[in-house]
Amino acid sequence: MGKHCLCVLLCVLLLWGSVGRAEAKNGKYVALTFDDGPSGAFTRELLAGLKERGVKATFFLCGYRVDQYPKLAAQIAREGHEIGTHSDAHKFFGKMSQWEIDRDLAASVEKIRKATGKDPTLLRPPGGIYSRSVLGKTCCKELPIILWSVDPDDWCCNNSNTVVQRVLSQTKSGDVILLHELSESSVQAAFRIIDELQGQGYTFVTVSQLAKLSGKELVGGEVYSRFRIDN
Ligand code: ZN
Repeated sequence: MGKHCLCVLLCVLLLWGSVGRAEAKNGKYVALTFDDGPSGAFTRELLAGLKERGVKATFFLCGYRVDQYPKLAAQIAREGHEIGTHSDAHKFFGKMSQWEIDRDLAASVEKIRKATGKDPTLLRPPGGIYSRSVLGKTCCKELPIILWSVDPDDWCCNNSNTVVQRVLSQTKSGDVILLHELSESSVQAAFRIIDELQGQGYTFVTVSQLAKLSGKELVGGEVYSRFRIDN
């Protein structure tokens, strides 16, 4: 290859690289999170729709449900979604002793590990109720605590139009959207939210990918509800 050709190739590569970086910097990114699963009734439908749309989401699983549907938990992991623990029994931590919380979290980690072959990498306490100092003394102290920035209350309205409207009116790049896989309306809402936001140029990523895109490394015991992504 001549010097001229090499130079042209180098310029093309450099240009390509800078365009790629500009896209990453200027793109709009959000994370969809699904709590309280695997529900059994809606998980397969949800996973199929996510796959069809090329979306990786983050699932905060409950140990007692992983017990009921270990194959679905395994499928969630196998399909490349991120997995966090949402406790074992879904009791609110505010009413439990440190020992009870530790025991509950350890049970959830064990069940997720057994079903998926992996440990959960994130923690979302039921109802978002927690004490950092108490969690810092449990087996899950190394896990980042992930809350949310967009909550359409999908579990109580049971109406996909309302859920879609609430999410679309609030969502900005860097947001963490909270949904549950407990009803058909939530699953249908998730699909419409994805289709609409992808149409607006958004890319759906997992929570840890969203953190990375914002230039943050998630730290165990720290609390995150959204990420700052400049665009
Ligand atoms: Zn929950």
